[in-house]
Amino acid sequence: SYAFGEEPMKDWDLKRREWLKLHPSFAASEEKVLLVTGSQPNVCKNPVGDHLQLRLFKNKVDYCRIHGHEIFYNNVLLNQKGTGFWAKYPLLRASMLAHPEAEWIWWVDSDAVVTDMEFKLPLERYKDHNLVVHGWWNMLYEEKSWTSLNAGVLLIRNCQWSMDLMERWTSMGPQNPDHEKWGKAQKSLIKDKAYPGSDDQSALIYLLIKEKDRWADKIYLESEYNLHGYWLGIVDGLDKISKGYMEIDREVDLLRRRHAEKMSLFYGAMREKHMKDRGFWKENVRRPFVTHFTGCEPCSGEHNSMYTWEACWNGMQKALNFADNQVLSRFGFVHPDLLNSSLVSPLPFDFPA
Ligand code: UDP
Ligand code: MN
Repeated sequence: SYAFGEEPMKDWDLKRREWLKLHPSFAASEEKVLLVTGSQPNVCKNPVGDHLQLRLFKNKVDYCRIHGHEIFYNNVLLNQKGTGFWAKYPLLRASMLAHPEAEWIWWVDSDAVVTDMEFKLPLERYKDHNLVVHGWWNMLYEEKSWTSLNAGVLLIRNCQWSMDLMERWTSMGPQNPDHEKWGKAQKSLIKDKAYPGSDDQSALIYLLIKEKDRWADKIYLESEYNLHGYWLGIVDGLDKISKGYMEIDREVDLLRRRHAEKMSLFYGAMREKHMKDRGFWKENVRRPFVTHFTGCEPCSGEHNSMYTWEACWNGMQKALNFADNQVLSRFGFVHPDLLNSSLVSPLPFDFPA
């Protein structure tokens, strides 16, 4: 059964292996990633919400096109009770079943922007793990903080373990008649939890603390790069990062020209080395991989009261244009002002492609 919350999936690893044997043309590989994202079934309440959803989707399509990933966008509720942040789990499960050839499903919240179009997921690093989220172990176990990890961007392996985890995870969600009880249980464990009901991020933290032996081994908390980066700490720095990269591009282009043809082969490697030499891998200098506008609620407009809608709007424009510049520059154009989305100017004719 493909239905969610009904019969649990059993023996998926075996079934998946059999399917792959019968469909050799799909050529499964450890690197095969399916990006899954989506949004609500109805028109956004916020008048600019659907426009933002389109730009946020375009950004993900661009990243997938560049890196050869498949993408699936969903805007129906596969389980009527699984709304909001709980909507992704029935979808992740269905995506695993619909795409046995995909080794990884990469869930990216609609309100998250890929802000480094060149960065490749370091999948090799996760070969012994089944779930990857941004987070910090010490913060999780010492502070039991709600922000010790983020469930808005996650990589989950297409396997039985993931089915079991999601089964357990969503047992704390709204399809369970007991979910109010779970909200309270989470709150008593996670002091800085603001949302009163049971939420998926708290549920994961809860499982990592209360059922550590069962799950923690296979979960990778990533903090070496921004698999998820909180937008408030990022958007003000984007102009400077953008200038820094342009400078690097100019310098590397000069070097390349000086060394003519043969060096052009090594452009990518040269740029990497040049950036390393210049300390470009530090935070606030390097492009953040993903900028997540958690709390901004672009579709409903019901943003967190800690900041204004203007701050969210401007932040999203900046992040989207910052990312789009990395795409547009290949087409010979650039947004000179990250806050002005409609203005583009042509790049100098000999700009490096
Ligand atoms: N979402 C969905 N269907 C829905 C509602 C939400 O797929 O009906 C997805 C959407 O991608 C959204 C995510 O669920 O980004 C989580 O919600 P949100 O980003 O608003 O939570 P936050 O990051 O602000 O905590
Ligand atoms: Mn989000």
